Amino acid sequence: MSVRKMKKAVTIRFPAPLPAEIPCPICEGNKCRVCEMNGKIKVTVDAKVPIQRHLIVQYIAEHMDEIANELSQKFGLIPDVQTEDMFEVEGRTYELVKISSLGGVVWVAHRIDEQESPRYFKSWKNLQQFKGDWLEG
Ligand SMILES: [Zn+2]
Repeated sequence: MSVRKMKKAVTIRFPAPLPAEIPCPICEGNKCRVCEMNGKIKVTVDAKVPIQRHLIVQYIAEHMDEIANELSQKFGLIPDVQTEDMFEVEGRTYELVKISSLGGVVWVAHRIDEQESPRYFKSWKNLQQFKGDWLEG
């Protein structure tokens, strides 16, 4: 274990083309038709901009709705919905559906042997308590 193990800000490098001005390589700044008599040419330089990861996470958190919409439209990204579990307690059968999205995770417990309002759980702990309650009851 070294001191390097200490928590360090994670930085992500994003490609960011930066505009730059260089002296015209044809006339070397003496003005010609290529540089439109400016003596300079505008170019875009491929650069990478370091951005701290926590700032990205913060940005996403603050623009969740916007980003979620954009992801859906551009990439067809939709919340992942899957049956995670089936459980039965005292003859009551539930299907546990997990919905994962950019905004987090929510579990929905549907009773499938009888009509009953679905129950929603936003935390794993609450879900376990619900299951536990039935188990203990
Ligand atoms: Zn020139």
